[in-house]
Amino acid sequence: MKDILDFTRQDLGEWFENKGIRRFRADQVFKWLYLKLAGSFEEMTDLGKALRGELAEHFFLGTLELENMETSVDATKKFLHRLADGEYVESVLIPEKEHYTLCVSTQAGCAMNCKFCLTAKTGFKRNLTMGEIVGQVRDARRFIAQQGIEPLFLSNIVFMGMGEPLANYDNLLRSLGVIFDTDFGMKFSRRKVTVSTSGIAPKIIQLGLDTEVNLAVSLNATDNELRSSLMPVNRTWPIEALLAACKEFEMKPRNKITFEYILMSGVNDSDAHAHDLVRLLSPIRAKVNLIPFNEHPQAPFKRPSRDRINAFLTILLNRNMTAIVRKSKGDDISAACGQLKAARIE
Ligand code: SAH
Repeated sequence: MKDILDFTRQDLGEWFENKGIRRFRADQVFKWLYLKLAGSFEEMTDLGKALRGELAEHFFLGTLELENMETSVDATKKFLHRLADGEYVESVLIPEKEHYTLCVSTQAGCAMNCKFCLTAKTGFKRNLTMGEIVGQVRDARRFIAQQGIEPLFLSNIVFMGMGEPLANYDNLLRSLGVIFDTDFGMKFSRRKVTVSTSGIAPKIIQLGLDTEVNLAVSLNATDNELRSSLMPVNRTWPIEALLAACKEFEMKPRNKITFEYILMSGVNDSDAHAHDLVRLLSPIRAKVNLIPFNEHPQAPFKRPSRDRINAFLTILLNRNMTAIVRKSKGDDISAACGQLKAARIE
């Protein structure tokens, strides 16, 4: 038995053809899976009983089990998914003014070992399958549909959950195929999906060649010594290599790369750091998301004062850099940036 969510439309078409079934059946199944959000093969009524039976014999439909759901005071929801082999991942559903954003995980645990991030503390377990990645999106839309009266629409995805998306490149790319498929898939707009990376330079360039998606880069420091001490990935691809890859990243003329910069008190939040950041990013079509550090007991860092954050932001803005301070949501349920660790309720 295989998870049907692990199949691209191409894969499934071929599977059908090998069975002597016409491949447009795959398109029909995809509509049921990703548009009508079917929960079982039984529901796929226009397929005919025999074909539905055939599917149920060879496939199961999704593997994620919702183990727990927590709701923040700001209405952000954190889902804890149990995977088939007993590992856990989280995804976070964030209500915005007119839509939902879903923060999706790509790996169980993470191998990047960034010193400020709680997910790093669990170590790396494994890559998520395509089915486990698109399953998070499908389950979120199913959850919203069950809410009843005029729910917001899930239109935005950020690959900023657990794991390093570009270290699970193939499954990420296959998942994006379904996410962007406008005929039979989930019909997300390319402008509303963002892949965030800690800085795997060669994969950044590859991503721009293979698909069209927004890029975010977790920069967090302006010199190699500090960045390497915070983010070991910087020893392989130092800031110069990372920014060179960003320059090469193919995108539409008006698009910008988002640079995430966690502000940590006394570490990377001085006026000089702000000036360095402007200097580094000025040759790149960039915007900056400042993320005040979300404190947790497993890292020594502190969030700067409100005044310090504003002073840092003001320097960027005065130098004509597009920049915002990102509001952290779901902090009270450990759903904010860098706080996902899939703690099971004991
Ligand atoms: N591995 C990818 C995807 C995860 S995104 C990446 O690094 O981009 C998670 C974001 O949260 C990253 O931008 C990271 O820098 C930020 N982050 C991690 N821990 C944090 C913390 N404690 N407070 C605020 N932001 C944090």
